[in-house]
Amino acid sequence: MFNEVNPFALPDKPVEECGVFGIYAPGMDVARITYYGLYALQHRGQESAGIAVADGRQVQLHKGMGLVTEVFTRHSLDKFSGHMAIGHVRYSTTGASQPLNAQPLVFRYAKGMLGLAHNGNLTNVTDLRSQLASTGSVFQSSTDSEVLVNLIARYNANSLEEALMKCMIDVKGAYSLLIITENALYAARDPHGFRPLCLGRLGDGYVIASESCALTTVGAAFIRDVEPGEIIRIDREGVTSTQGFKAQNPAHCIFEYIYFARPDSTMDTFNVNKVRREMGRQLAREYPVEADIVIPVPDSGTAAARGYAEESGIPFEEGLMKNRYIGRTFIQPTQEMREIGVRLKLNPIREVLQGKRVVMVDDSIVRGTTSQKLVAMLRQAGAREVHMCISSPPVLRSCYYGIDTSDEQELIAAKMPLEEIRRSINADGLHYLSLEGLLDIFAPKQNHFCTACFSGNYPVEVPRPKESGKYSLE
Ligand code: AMP
Repeated sequence: MFNEVNPFALPDKPVEECGVFGIYAPGMDVARITYYGLYALQHRGQESAGIAVADGRQVQLHKGMGLVTEVFTRHSLDKFSGHMAIGHVRYSTTGASQPLNAQPLVFRYAKGMLGLAHNGNLTNVTDLRSQLASTGSVFQSSTDSEVLVNLIARYNANSLEEALMKCMIDVKGAYSLLIITENALYAARDPHGFRPLCLGRLGDGYVIASESCALTTVGAAFIRDVEPGEIIRIDREGVTSTQGFKAQNPAHCIFEYIYFARPDSTMDTFNVNKVRREMGRQLAREYPVEADIVIPVPDSGTAAARGYAEESGIPFEEGLMKNRYIGRTFIQPTQEMREIGVRLKLNPIREVLQGKRVVMVDDSIVRGTTSQKLVAMLRQAGAREVHMCISSPPVLRSCYYGIDTSDEQELIAAKMPLEEIRRSINADGLHYLSLEGLLDIFAPKQNHFCTACFSGNYPVEVPRPKESGKYSLE
């Protein structure tokens, strides 16, 4: 479809997941507040955005491909009227990148209208989809979210909560969901609490979002996290909570803290910035390096680099400048243009790096492409030594719960031992934070997290390997 590619998203990076935002606030401009909420969640997905608004009689929808600011205009927001809304930003983890897969999904069924926004991946979607198809369901999109819509429509005999409870029995995997009908807003979180979801108060109304940074951005006060297995309904009676499914052992995604979430978010009681800083401190304790300066790979490595500098006493410097206006750029995929693409995003500051022994801190290595380019960039800018310090353990396994960590055969740490990775990225030293060191930061809740990408311990059964040897969700 495109003959141009985004050099920052393809092909050397895994893709982001999704963000959801919902509001119930009679008398307020719910569409605009949702727009701002999605703006604050833009880091969770840049492929498509959408808002659905309900006014007691119907659910209106506007969605499209691109960033929040590209999808919505003043005009499209003015057209909405209503007192509650849900919104979604998406980067595909299942389903192709196409307009039909953009969310919210809005459907008309026997009980009226229903809009759904989903963050996470279902792990038994193939079976569910074929069961539904064999009994007459039709699907418009290739997302696992549409399976949810079909199940809800089937099960909604008495109430939506009851339908959601039945769905929770059938559906396996990760989901933080928002649902809107003509009259109420619903939220549900899977029984392990893989993906984050929190509730806040805005005036006399309520907001629900993937991350607390979206609550504070719209001026809402954080109330609490949505509990694993919980279903929340918000309508004119206020907030009603039901335990839809017995909470299972908590398995909050640890990669949210490492890379995805914004540092100003607090999820399941842990502030992301604090955790990242502590990761850097722990890394410095585990791997003291003789060096002149500590620099982050901005922005994902910044908090950890500060922690490393504080703990080691080595001065923190900004050695790489990030272009804040990069957005989505479309550049021809020639090698030369890709190189420009990398420098467009991150440019070294020669005056800081020249002649220095540098500790460069990044949050993770996935395929190794970024580290390799950055080490080369620092050397070109005159760095004498480059020690790559990674504030997470080696990524060894794929994620099936909503983070696209690429196929296992593409993960550099799954393919080669540490020394070989160090050589391939051409660093003088390479150190990863240990899994124990990472988990200690969350004490005494060390076992409340999903660490499958590092440990291979999958809390929920993952899809069967296909004959090709590759895993597939579809
Ligand atoms: P790679 O170049 O494949 O080794 O990717 C590692 C870089 O991508 C690091 O700079 C991370 O900050 C960033 N990163 C890690 N996980 C993801 C992800 N799921 N999506 C996008 N970028 C990521």
